[in-house]
Formats: sequence, structure tokens, C-alpha cells
Amino acid sequence: MTRAPPEPEAIITEATVLEDGFKHTERDVDLNDLEDKEIGDYLSKIRNFDADFSNDIYLPTEKKTLLTNTINRLERVQTYVGHGNFNLIGFDEMLFFARNYSEIEDFEKAELDLLEEIFFTDANQYGFFGEKVTPELTSRIPIPDVVKIHGSGHYLLKGSSYNLYEQIRQDVGKQLLLTSGIRNVVKQMHLFLGKALQSDLNLSKASRSLAPPGHSFHCIGDFDVGKIGLGELNFTEDFSRTEEFRRMVNLGYIDIRYTDTNLYGVRYEPWHIKIA
Ligand SMILES: [Zn+2]
Repeated sequence: MTRAPPEPEAIITEATVLEDGFKHTERDVDLNDLEDKEIGDYLSKIRNFDADFSNDIYLPTEKKTLLTNTINRLERVQTYVGHGNFNLIGFDEMLFFARNYSEIEDFEKAELDLLEEIFFTDANQYGFFGEKVTPELTSRIPIPDVVKIHGSGHYLLKGSSYNLYEQIRQDVGKQLLLTSGIRNVVKQMHLFLGKALQSDLNLSKASRSLAPPGHSFHCIGDFDVGKIGLGELNFTEDFSRTEEFRRMVNLGYIDIRYTDTNLYGVRYEPWHIKIA
């Protein structure tokens, strides 16, 4: 089902309201350009991220079974190593676990080809414009560089990320929690493929919600925060209506990577805290 793009007036009003309290950066649309048709079309895509657009890029239908099998195998790896560790393992470790444990079984050649194809395709084709922060399929953050965040099942980079998170919690309150920290390529791959399947193979739609593997700033220290009790709604605009979010804005913590007018091609993500 396709939703109609918002009226241009609605775009302008929303952007103007949201601009209060946010830092709009060079990675944002110039708000003076909002009446430009191309910019308007672009913004309507990231604002209706869950809709299908005529020039979206799809994975060929004949690859649907392959996609499903690959996701299932990644999930068996996740079950084997545990959800927390799955955020951290690298591509080579994934292969090692698959090869050595019969609960998983070795990746088939076609599955590996798909993983490589997804990783090495230029994401600009999908309409995703963020840089590739992790250009190597096999690279990952070393374990000694991360710290487990108690009670969250997630990890943060020692130093900058961890210190910022602790500071935010101290200032905003213990109701704030880490909802996602370090995610290496394998974890991002699993999330992206899952989103692609859920989007009926629409890779553009998937990339409007989630950076394709290699492009996630979660690989280099960015993290997501939410409010205890809000559950899945932490990953919606509902989070931006919480008292915790308002306090973070007032305290100047909100340096959002994906603003409502970002040029990365990604939906507005008020829960995502930028580090680098
Ligand atoms: Zn995030």
C-alpha cells in the first residue's frame, strides 16, 4: 500500500517546528530550498520512508528464497552466539561458527554471494547517500575496545560513546536506556536483509529505515537511546515526544545524525545519538 506524499505546506510547517532545538548541519537540506520540486520529492521519500516509490530498487523476485535462507542462517548464528555477542562478531567469525557447528551449517556459495553483493553494491543506487564508514567486509571493532552496558544486552565503544551515554543518563535520568550500541557488519547485514524481506524486496525502502551494511555509524560509536517501558515505540517519532527527549534537547545533547531534513536518504531518527 502506498501512502500519498504530504502536502508541501505540511512539509514546511513540520520542518520549521522541528528545527527548534535541533542542530541542522551541512548534511541537511537548506530549509530555504523546500519549495524546490526535487528537494520536495526527496523529503517526501524520507518522510514516507515506509511507502513504495516508482523509482525504488528491488532485489529480483527469484532471489527471495535465497534471501530467506540467508536470513535464517544468520539467525541460527545469532541464536548460537547470543544476541549480545551477535552485535560484535565479524564476518570471519560468522563463517567460523557456521562451518563448525551443525546447528548452523556452512553458508552456501549463493548465500555468500548474496552477502557480498549486498555489501559491495553502491548504496547510492538505492537512494542512500551516507558514506561507507566500514569499507571492509571483514573488519570489526576489537572486543577490548567495547564495554557491555549492564541490563541492555548492548555494547558501547569505551571512551567517547560510553562517557557520553553515562553523562546523558546522569543528567536526564535512569529512565533513559541504551536500545542499540555497537553493531558490526554481520549484525547490520542481518537487520538490513530482514528489513529488505519485510519490505517485499524493496532495497530502497529498507535503506530509508536502516543504513545498509558498511554504512552504519553504529560501527564507529553512534548509539540509540530510548525510554524504559516504551518498547518498540522507542524507534518511532513517539520517542521525540517523551519528557526524556525534551530534556536531552534542552540540555543540548541532541546532535541527531538523521534529522528530519537529512541528506543521507534516511528517515528522521530522534533516538540516534551521533558520536563521530
Ligand atoms: Zn541508530
